[in-house]
Amino acid sequence: MSEMSDREFVRIGPIHSISNGRIVTEIDTEFHLRFGEDRPSYAGMHYCPWCGKSISRDLWNREKKK
Ligand SMILES: [Zn+2]
Repeated sequence: MSEMSDREFVRIGPIHSISNGRIVTEIDTEFHLRFGEDRPSYAGMHYCPWCGKSISRDLWNREKKK
């Protein structure tokens, strides 16, 4: 996931640590696309936009139930 570290429009970190904006999805993930500057919106991601790897706990939990 290191390819993300220098991309500012992607926020990586625990969802509960987002304090300056609005989360517009209900995906359990630590990867969010950020829109806007002052009060940004965050959209959770199921897949890494660069390598396609699954990165959300929702997907991991679904895998476990199979
Ligand atoms: Zn990746």
